[in-house]
Amino acid sequence: MTRLIFLGPPGAGKGTQAKILSEHCEVPHISTGDILRTAVKAGTPLGRKAKGYMSAGELVPDDLILDLVRERLSQEDTVNGWLFDGFPRNVEQAEFLSELLAEIDQTCAVVINLEVPDDELVSRMLARGRADDKEDVIRNRLEVYRAQTEPLITFYRAQSLLVSVDGNQPLDTVSETLHKIVQRDGTAEVKEV
Ligand code: AMP
Repeated sequence: MTRLIFLGPPGAGKGTQAKILSEHCEVPHISTGDILRTAVKAGTPLGRKAKGYMSAGELVPDDLILDLVRERLSQEDTVNGWLFDGFPRNVEQAEFLSELLAEIDQTCAVVINLEVPDDELVSRMLARGRADDKEDVIRNRLEVYRAQTEPLITFYRAQSLLVSVDGNQPLDTVSETLHKIVQRDGTAEVKEV
């Protein structure tokens, strides 16, 4: 039973590593960013509401995200575990998740914090070339991360769930480190708090 959260600044390689780890653990990779981008592309009501925030590098309002997450966790494929990537993004979302998990009798095993220095983040994002990877938007996303998402490090450290991993290493090295933290049976070793 693997249930885990991926934290980390934009451009840290969260998406790539989360996908690899979710396949390794055989649990769904739930990226709120991917779900939103799909909704924007499809022009759904959610996508239309989220689009402006995303292209400015701002967080999409909590009510939209919380509905989306509640709905996703009600789907059958999440009963044996999940890996959240890009959620929660602020303390309100984290508190909502704790309450939701208590309601459905689940617990998160570990929160992985991928650490990468700022200058490396910017060059990785510029190389990626996503629609919201323009330099001013990147700068804003980093500021939003510092102000709203970084406090989650303290939040989860206080619950002894946090493990920090050096993300400024070759992709395979980071993957191996993550595999060691999360055993295949889903028991997570929280060593570094
Ligand atoms: P990501 O793919 O995780 O970098 O997310 C891309 C964009 O989607 C972010 O810059 C936000 O605008 C939006 N987004 C993704 N996840 C969330 C979330 N949990 N809360 C609010 N906005 C989000």
